Amino acid sequence: MTNTGEQPNQDSTEMVDALEAAEKSQRLTAAILATAADPIIVIDEHGIIEIANDATSRLFGFTTEALIGQNVSMLMPEPYRTEHNDYIANYLRTGDTKIIGIGREVSAQRGDGSTFPMALAVSEVDGQRPRRFTGIIHDLSRRVEAEQALLLANSTLEARVENRTSELRTLLVELERSNRDLEQFAYIASHDLQAPLRNVRQGLQLLDEHLLETASSGFDDEAHELQRLISEAVGRMEELIRGLLEFSRVDRRHESPDSEVDLNDLIDELQELLFADLQEANAELVVDDLPIVTGDRVQLRQVLQNLLQNSLKYRPEGTAPRVEIQGRPEGDEWIISVGDNGIGIDEAQHSRIFELFRRGHAGYEGVGLGLAIAQRIVESHGGRIWVDSEPEQGATFHIALPRTSGETG
Ligand code: ADP
Repeated sequence: MTNTGEQPNQDSTEMVDALEAAEKSQRLTAAILATAADPIIVIDEHGIIEIANDATSRLFGFTTEALIGQNVSMLMPEPYRTEHNDYIANYLRTGDTKIIGIGREVSAQRGDGSTFPMALAVSEVDGQRPRRFTGIIHDLSRRVEAEQALLLANSTLEARVENRTSELRTLLVELERSNRDLEQFAYIASHDLQAPLRNVRQGLQLLDEHLLETASSGFDDEAHELQRLISEAVGRMEELIRGLLEFSRVDRRHESPDSEVDLNDLIDELQELLFADLQEANAELVVDDLPIVTGDRVQLRQVLQNLLQNSLKYRPEGTAPRVEIQGRPEGDEWIISVGDNGIGIDEAQHSRIFELFRRGHAGYEGVGLGLAIAQRIVESHGGRIWVDSEPEQGATFHIALPRTSGETG
């Protein structure tokens, strides 16, 4: 037993231990790389891939063999692909970093050419010559998708809120209108209906007194006259109430659905309906080629009928009415005009005549409903109605109705 025999033995044991430790450490590193959820890539100073773990293959769609020995720029889309080599060279020369040691969100490219966002953390491997760099990648597709979905959900929500707001705005306009109608109704109920009612009461009282005085002589002329007055007042009240009812029924939400309405057909129908009136007035009707519009046929006919009847009615005695009906497109609307050669309307009355029971001229029959109904119908079709006129210069009523796609002129 000598020392000389023991020395080499101890050396080789240490060497074996060291080799085993190195092997163990290598196995550990390989296991860490293989099981890491995120891609890890090691490149040399020329950008050549030396190590790429399984997660890299999975994410980029290349086999490990296809990656090793290739330039890492293959995993980047243009323009980074072309710029990458210059970038490493610049760093090696100047130490100027753009990503190294900082980390960034960049774009990456898969084997199939598709790109995705990733977080890239690059660090230089300490004390290695030639120099090496490690890149740890985290796929951000999901996060970006979630952000985009959130943005989409936000904008959808905004659109819905906007829609709802505009619905509410429309509702508010309608509500304001029905409030106005209600106010007018209250006014009419208290004034217009009370006047004939007062006449009825007075007439009855007078009739009563008269009958008491002339109890024996029966029903004389005065009694007849009083009776006539009463029934006239009752008739007027009936007319007003019927009118109110008609006006309140102009509510399109309860009517049949809209259809394509050829206004030429409506005029033909009206010419038949008003044949006797037209003949009697010796009226001349000049009708343009009119458009087809979308709406409620019966209601639109009512509008034209009211305008036409007014044109026949409001004329100086002895003048034959001449009525011109025209239609023309203007922007996204049809403008339908009914013009006459009648007595015309003072400008101060131009907007008032559309109010319920508002009458502009005495001495002509009517209750002041035709234009209120016409306006209500036109507005419920999304349109407008107005008048152009001067006293004794005739009147032209215009209706603007929205043009919808598919309509022809
Ligand atoms: P009414 O004819 O029963 O009075 P309208 O609502 O149809 O009710 O008309 C309201 C008022 O507008 C009329 O009283 C009249 O003064 C005026 N008006 C309507 N149409 C014409 C017209 N073509 N020419 C002159 N005035 C008109």
